[in-house]
Amino acid sequence: MWETIIKPETLRATAELTSGVRAAFSWEKIEKELLDGLPGGAINIAYEAVDRHVAHGFGSVTALRWLGKSGERLDLSYADLSVASARFASVLASHGLGRGDRVFSLLGRQPEVFHAALGTLKAGMTFTPLFSAFGPEPIRTRMEIGQANALVTTEAIYRRKIEPWIRDIPSMRLVLIVGETAPEGCVALDPAMQEASPGFEAVPTRPEDEALIHFTSGTTGRPKGAVHVHHAVLNHAATGRYALELRPGAIYWCTADPGWVTGTSYGIIAPLVHRATLIIDEAEFDLERWYATIEREKVEVWYTAPTAIRMMMRAGKEAAARYDFSSLRFLASVGEPLNPEAVVWGSETFGLPFHDNWWQTETGGIMIANTLDMDIKPGSMGRPLPGIEAEILNREDGGIRPCKPGEIGDLALKAGWPSMMRAYLHEEARYKKCFVDDWYISGDLALKDEDGYFWFVGRADDLIKSSGHLIGPFEVESALIEHEAVAEAGVIGLPDETAGEVVKAYVSLNPGYEPSDELEKSIRGHARKKLGPAVAPRTVEFRKTLPKTRSGKIMRRLLKARELGLPEGDISTLETDES
Ligand code: ATP
Ligand code: MG
Repeated sequence: MWETIIKPETLRATAELTSGVRAAFSWEKIEKELLDGLPGGAINIAYEAVDRHVAHGFGSVTALRWLGKSGERLDLSYADLSVASARFASVLASHGLGRGDRVFSLLGRQPEVFHAALGTLKAGMTFTPLFSAFGPEPIRTRMEIGQANALVTTEAIYRRKIEPWIRDIPSMRLVLIVGETAPEGCVALDPAMQEASPGFEAVPTRPEDEALIHFTSGTTGRPKGAVHVHHAVLNHAATGRYALELRPGAIYWCTADPGWVTGTSYGIIAPLVHRATLIIDEAEFDLERWYATIEREKVEVWYTAPTAIRMMMRAGKEAAARYDFSSLRFLASVGEPLNPEAVVWGSETFGLPFHDNWWQTETGGIMIANTLDMDIKPGSMGRPLPGIEAEILNREDGGIRPCKPGEIGDLALKAGWPSMMRAYLHEEARYKKCFVDDWYISGDLALKDEDGYFWFVGRADDLIKSSGHLIGPFEVESALIEHEAVAEAGVIGLPDETAGEVVKAYVSLNPGYEPSDELEKSIRGHARKKLGPAVAPRTVEFRKTLPKTRSGKIMRRLLKARELGLPEGDISTLETDES
């Protein structure tokens, strides 16, 4: 349907991943090449991300460039980060916290989240970031499930959301408040950091020691707490190089919030491991601000999400034309299926396509990716990275067999990569259900083509069965947003006596378009032409916005529940549910 995009030879010649690298790959070899480790086979994420660079003489390199909401700028070097994380670790220790304890954060995109993440890991404790815009209930539930021992947050968040119930969390022993002062019963972080020893050495954690707990986005239901270990840093390192083209000194901007797995794995760990310089923008999405940031900061590698890309597309190419994007050399996207239209649009607007890649909270790192050495087929997630065995499996007859090219099945990964989750907190049965033989079953449906490219079809829960056809919502949504009026689309199946299910679409419109019967007809007509009558939506409904998670994922289950008048289920991560 779309022409294959081939990148300029000059760029491709610089690719970190080549067929030679693919052929010679082994986890043991890449671990020796990319990581230092600690004596006796120990490994600590914070050591790999920060301290070793200082030990190797790179302490003065800028690690973070923080851009505050109101135009402030703050640069932190690797040496600064090493000291700040050591002080944070000392603060934890001085309050009696030790290895294995769990530290939660509830912070915006601010330098302290780096001090906290790296300091916690350095101290051999588990770091669990929560998204700071959550309401009190989702925060409380997650802290209960995760048996939080410490929390670091701001006074405003504490007073608004935490104070009334924090004493009811029996495991909680320390609340740190960013700033000079703290409410009663809490500790002010700034003076505590100043008094604390900067000499805290990274704890020699074992590769299998618990390091991070991330809660999933809650797109399909109640969020799960996925447990990751220190050895996960090996995936972060390898994928940082091969899927994001990170290298020392690269100016890198990951737009994800550290409250989600992408914002930690690729907003903190992977780029620091590669000694890159990170741009952290405290502000929310703002088109002009984003474009100006790329230009002014000379961003080279940019990792963002389809929901942001669609917002840029909505503003049109003209809005981008005034900026100089010549510093960019690699663009990547994750979090949701990336519509082919968006890949092409990136190519036309920035001179570079977006490289879609696929992974989940559970996988801890990128698994399938469009890499710089490959031709891009817009709409495809790419191919498995080195060290990752991915397959499409059919489990319909009770057994398990690989699908033929083009056949839809479960997207599965051979278990055993370093950043694979080790548990769902307190949900052993749910965890076990994810594994069949030695395959991890992702819960997503996909297909593989003759060239080994993987194509996302939909989440297993979202698949639509209509008159004997299997329809993935992504295919229909992508066709819909090709219509000039459509900005975003969410597609679901509704029960129907004759067809089993029929396809229904919800769309939001681009500026300059108003809902009308005529437009509805035109959009349906367009979809019918692209997809055929069996797959095209029977009805198209206009919406100002689509329900999304706070990480920007369309919540199709909510569209469906509302349409059918069913219970909404867990909506703790719903974006518009601001409390
Ligand atoms: P929950 O598991 O709680 O329902 P979630 O699956 O949205 O939430 P995450 O782990 O943050 O939580 O998201 C991973 C999921 O996002 C994937 O399983 C997939 O459905 C979707 N996803 C991520 N990247 C891509 C991509 N490149 N293409 C298609 N889908 C993607
Ligand atoms: Mg999931």
